[in-house]
Amino acid sequence: MPSEAKDAENFVEKPRTFAELRDAIQAGGTRATDLAAAYYERIEKKNPRLNVYLSLTKERALAQAAQVDALAAKGDPLPALAGIPVGVKDVLVMRGAPATAGSKILEGYRPPYDATAVARLEAAGAVLLGKINCDEFAMGSSNENSAYGPVRNPVDTERVPGGSSGGSAAAVAANMAVATLGTDTGGSIRQPASFCGVVGVLPTYGRVSRYGLIAFASSLDRVGPFAANVRDAATLLGVIAGHDPQDATTSPAPVEDYAAESDKPVEGLRIGVPTEYFGEGLDPEVRSAIESGVAALKAAGCSVKPVSLPHTNYAIPTYYLVATAEASANLARFDGVRYGYRSPASASLSDMYRHSRDEGFGAEVKRRILLGTYALSAGYYDAYYLKAQQVRRLLAEEFLRAFAEVDAIVTPTSPVPAFKLGEKTGDPLAMYLADIYTVTASLAGICGVTVPCGATKAGLPVGMQVLAAHLCEGTAFRVARAVEAAQI
Ligand code: GLN
Repeated sequence: MPSEAKDAENFVEKPRTFAELRDAIQAGGTRATDLAAAYYERIEKKNPRLNVYLSLTKERALAQAAQVDALAAKGDPLPALAGIPVGVKDVLVMRGAPATAGSKILEGYRPPYDATAVARLEAAGAVLLGKINCDEFAMGSSNENSAYGPVRNPVDTERVPGGSSGGSAAAVAANMAVATLGTDTGGSIRQPASFCGVVGVLPTYGRVSRYGLIAFASSLDRVGPFAANVRDAATLLGVIAGHDPQDATTSPAPVEDYAAESDKPVEGLRIGVPTEYFGEGLDPEVRSAIESGVAALKAAGCSVKPVSLPHTNYAIPTYYLVATAEASANLARFDGVRYGYRSPASASLSDMYRHSRDEGFGAEVKRRILLGTYALSAGYYDAYYLKAQQVRRLLAEEFLRAFAEVDAIVTPTSPVPAFKLGEKTGDPLAMYLADIYTVTASLAGICGVTVPCGATKAGLPVGMQVLAAHLCEGTAFRVARAVEAAQI
C-alpha cells in the first residue's frame, strides 16, 4: 500500500479537523482520493449495521477528490473544505442522484440539479460521499419513520440516533463522514446531534438557502451543518450561508467569519437560563450535565442570570399546527404523476392519485397531512391555524425581549437522552412532546448551536442548546466553543 494511502487510513481511524485534513492534503502527505476511498471502505463496513447511507455518489466524489489532488500537486492554495468528505441528508437534492426524502413515494426520482448548499460545499472543495437516511419528509424525532428502515445510534446501537436528521448525526459520530448537512424544522439537527454526541447548528431562518430542499414546512425549514467540533461546524456554515437569488427568503446580510468568531473568548458575555426549560419532564442526569455546563461558562467569565419565556408551554401545539398545515400544502405535489412512485393498478385518474398517495406515504406523513388539512379547513382556520400564528408571534417577541438583556440563552437540547428503538413508536404524542426545547427557536426564527455537554452514567451523550438572536450565529458559536473546551 502506498504510504499516502496508509496516511489516509489513519485519518479515518480517529476524526480529524478540517484544518488537519486540508493541511495534510496541501502538504502532499495525504491524497484526497485516498481519503475518500478510505471513507468508502469504512462506510461499507459500518453501514449494514447503522443504516446511515441510502445511496453513494462515488463517481462524483472521486472526480472531485482528483481535482483537489491536482490543485495540491500544483501547489495552489486549497479552498476551505478541500478534500473534506461530507454526507448529505436525503432531503437535499444532488444532480442525478436518488432523492428519496426517506419516502417510498419518491422512489426512483433523480433530480436534475443541485441544492444551493450542496453546490456551495462542492465549490469549496468538499467531497460529497452520498445521501443520508432520515425520517420520511423530515417528520419525526427518532429516524424510525424512514421507509428505508431506522438508523441506529453509534453510541448504543439499541437506541435511536434522534431525528429527523438521525443519519447525518450518526454519520459524524461513527466517522462515516467528517461533516454532514441536515435540516431542522422543529429540532431535527439539534436533537439528533445531542443524542449522538456531535455538534449541530440551527442557522437563523433565511441564513442558508432552501433551494433544492424538499419542503416540509417552508416557514420553519432550515439547512445546517453537523460536525465533530464547534470550529468545523462554524467553518461549514460560513461556506453554505448567504443570499441566494434562487430563494427569496434568504437574508442579504453579509456572512461573518464564524470560525474566527468562535475563537473569541466568552468573558463578559451575558448568559440567560430560562426557568421554563428546567421543569417537569427533564431527566435529572440531563439537568445535572447542563448545570455543569452553565458552571463552566461562569468559570470562563460569563455572567449568568435567569430569564423567563412564559409561552414555552404553548410551543408544542403551536408548532404541530403550523408545521402540519404547511406540510399538507407542500406534500400535495406528490400525486404519482410528477415524481417517483405511481401505483400500478388504477381504473381512473383519481384512483391513481389516491392509491399512489396511500401506498407511497407512511403512517406519520399521512397523520400530518390529515392534521394539517383539518387545521386549514374553512370553519377551523381561525380557531387553529390563525391562533397558532398569533402564539408564534408571542413566542418570538418574548425571545427578543430576553435577548435585550442577555447575549445567549442556554438550555438542554432534549429533556431526555437517546431512547430505545421502538420505545415511543406507539405513542406519537409522547414523541411530539419530547421536542419541547427545540420547537421554540424554530417558531421564533432565531439561531442556535447544540454542543456535547457531558453524558449520563450509562454513557449517553447530553447536548446543551445555545440560542442567540437573529443573525447572531457568531455569539452562539463562541459560547458553544467555551462549553466544548470545558470537556464536561
Ligand atoms: N421532530 C419534529 C417533527 O417531527 C421536528 C422535525 C424536523 O425538525 N424536521 O416535526
